[in-house]
Amino acid sequence: DKFRDGLTKTRDSFSGRVNDLVARYRKVDEDFFEELEEILIQADVGFGTVMELIDELKMEVKRQNIKDSSQMQSVISEKLVEIYEGSGEEKSSLNVQENGLTVILFVGVNGVGKTTTIGKLAYKLKSEGKSVMMAAGDTFRAGAIDQLEVWGDRVGVSVIKQAEGSDPAAVMYDAIQAAKSRGADILLCDTAGRLQNKVNLMKELEKVKRVIEREIPGAPHEVLLVLDATTGQNALIQAKTFKEATDVTGIVLTKLDGTAKGGIVLAIRNELNIPVKFVGLGERMDDLQEFDPDKYVYGLFA
Ligand code: GDP
Repeated sequence: DKFRDGLTKTRDSFSGRVNDLVARYRKVDEDFFEELEEILIQADVGFGTVMELIDELKMEVKRQNIKDSSQMQSVISEKLVEIYEGSGEEKSSLNVQENGLTVILFVGVNGVGKTTTIGKLAYKLKSEGKSVMMAAGDTFRAGAIDQLEVWGDRVGVSVIKQAEGSDPAAVMYDAIQAAKSRGADILLCDTAGRLQNKVNLMKELEKVKRVIEREIPGAPHEVLLVLDATTGQNALIQAKTFKEATDVTGIVLTKLDGTAKGGIVLAIRNELNIPVKFVGLGERMDDLQEFDPDKYVYGLFA
């Protein structure tokens, strides 16, 4: 199971430490909770979310009159899932139109795995029988267009591009016309990832979105923010900035395979109220998985 394998580092670290805690403390007392708090914070669950979780756990222990710490693994799992799911009603699946073109915009800073994610999602959607195209909207970073083309070749999807330095909104316009005329189902759009200048970023994203909205009412159907799980709390800060700049509809959390701090998924969900739609669990084209909170949380202990 790829999802499970991708979480090996987090699972080994997190469940290993919780099991050790349970072994050392027979009783569920204040010291037990203090150490648990520390473990959760080190797994990047996020301070606010940890506090909420610890409060909930204390109440649950009282309610069920739990005396023996060996019952705690299952109580912790239940509460983790509850916190994730209680943070919002949105579906975690992709909003794909039944008829006509679906436009998906990708945002995120350089290096988080945006291009790789677009390539992987193109592969996934194509495998599901959709006709997919890509728009090389990152005209700013040197090499970004070539890199997207490499993925296009790899997965057999055409990339609409212009020269480096050209107007990303013009690229989007071209790409939409091409996708419409070829009757494509899904257009995956890359964007530039510079965060140094928030005003410019906002302006560029607004302009790109305006073009898309004008050409296809109701589009973009998704704005997916790509975040690197290995950057921990920094990912949360990026998410806050992008949330202010544009209407983010979902998160793709990459490199979850490369971190023992997979708790960041919960922090993002709970503190930002944006659903995590996909997780990246490796560098290959089939290493993108839909995010499933149950599988994720229970996978941490199983
Ligand atoms: P971009 O600048 O945001 O477009 O980032 P790239 O797509 O170029 O990715 C940056 C690096 O992260 C590349 O070496 C990718 O292979 C790697 N990468 C992307 N996603 C994942 C993932 O889910 N797991 C791992 N281990 N590496 C990833």
